[in-house]
Amino acid sequence: MSSATSYNLLIDGRGVATAHVAVLDPATGAVVGHAPVATAAQVDAAVAAAKAAYPGWAATSDDARKAACAAMADLIEAHAEELAQLLSREQGKPLGGFGARYEVGGAAAWARHAATLDLPVETIQDDADAHITLHRKPLGVVASITPWNWPLMIAIWHVVPAIRAGNTVVIKPSPFTPLGTLRLVEILQGALPPGVLNAVAGGDAIGPLLTGHPDIAKIVFTGSTATGRTVMGSAAATLKRVTLELGGNDAGIVLPDADPQAIAEGLFWGAFMNSGQTCAALKRLYVHDSLYDALCDALVTVARGVKLGNGLDDYSVLGPLQNRMQFDKVVRLVDQARADGARILTGGAPTRGPGYFYPVTLVADARDGMGLVDEEQFGPALPILRYTDLDDAIARANASENGLGASVWSADTATARAIGARLEAGTVWINRHGAIRPDTPFGGVKASGIGVEFGRQGLEEYTTIQVLHR
Ligand code: NAD
Repeated sequence: MSSATSYNLLIDGRGVATAHVAVLDPATGAVVGHAPVATAAQVDAAVAAAKAAYPGWAATSDDARKAACAAMADLIEAHAEELAQLLSREQGKPLGGFGARYEVGGAAAWARHAATLDLPVETIQDDADAHITLHRKPLGVVASITPWNWPLMIAIWHVVPAIRAGNTVVIKPSPFTPLGTLRLVEILQGALPPGVLNAVAGGDAIGPLLTGHPDIAKIVFTGSTATGRTVMGSAAATLKRVTLELGGNDAGIVLPDADPQAIAEGLFWGAFMNSGQTCAALKRLYVHDSLYDALCDALVTVARGVKLGNGLDDYSVLGPLQNRMQFDKVVRLVDQARADGARILTGGAPTRGPGYFYPVTLVADARDGMGLVDEEQFGPALPILRYTDLDDAIARANASENGLGASVWSADTATARAIGARLEAGTVWINRHGAIRPDTPFGGVKASGIGVEFGRQGLEEYTTIQVLHR
């Protein structure tokens, strides 16, 4: 065992030691730290602690819960650099740019916004016949299950609104990136009574212990569509509420009137932020034939200026892929596309180890039906497809089981918005891709999920309605 730090489970306000497993830095293969592997009994203890804390927390005033959200934001800011360094080492993302410091800053911003949200009582009728009011009440214990791509921000997206609404929480981070979340939960104890926020960790066997647990009222899950289906199935027996934020295969459509030079940078970062390991990244780009070559050239120019490297090195703009499975998937999809006649404009072959480094890859002459187009690549390889007829492009963009985000790129905003309304996606951006805000609901349609996060509508997902009727 190396001298790297060992992290604990967080149950009822206390660190709980258990068996450990090494977590590796995807840039070097070095041990970042040792993550706890919870036993089934420890998962039960975490749920029991959350259940015991629930009545007290649900009874606190709205103002006290808002203050707790603001205090969580303060604590994240006070530990921002420590969290960013740990996140960069275990996830691989660079410290700067849209990397680890940006993610930790986002986590604080989302927590602070939750402190401003209200759940007002609504009066439906108030006259001599009846007095009817609608109240938002918490649900009980919420289980949060998170992925490895934006582990700290997504943890906050789950945990803070749940707590703001009066629930208590057990969070289970991805086995690929558990350390930052365990440290975050430890830090957040300073703003919360014991048992309100608990963390367990371990392999993929831990998730089902939560999703089938009779004392859990709701699951908020962010991860792949395949796992989302399993989660929903296991929630059925106990009729748990679910919010599912699942996979995406976002299409972008570039109209003939767009200026390639003006949009190249925005398109590039829409696709390559976090090395493409983002649910709502641009994953298929449909470009009108009339500007296809000019846009490919402009994207290659942007790509050539981007430096790949260890997240802790100042010059790195993008880091490695987070894990071997993801790396192998990108290699397979790009190799297949090349074999099927696509043109690699830049990138296209993994960098020699150590580390899961794969360069920014632009793939021209890609076609629907290729794995790189039809599957969620979740990596730094963007297929660029040609179209001549706009209705055809819209039909191809919609011909996916996913429907998380989409974008339309044009000099004419009104036309772009009208096309956006025809796209089957939870969010359609115009001349940008992937922008999210704490006050604006975000979620997928079709196989990209159920429910939304953020804003008042996101907060309401952690509540149930009670009507008082005289
Ligand atoms: P994943 O589905 O493999 O894992 C997600 C989480 O589920 C992990 O914590 C994992 O341990 C857990 N898990 C695995 N099996 C389980 C089971 N049977 N029951 C309960 N939990 C189980 O996803 P991933 O590879 O970590 O993340 C990448 C995926 O997440 C991509 O598809 C991406 O698009 C999606 N994602 C979606 C959003 C969104 O907001 N829609 C955001 C980020 C990521």
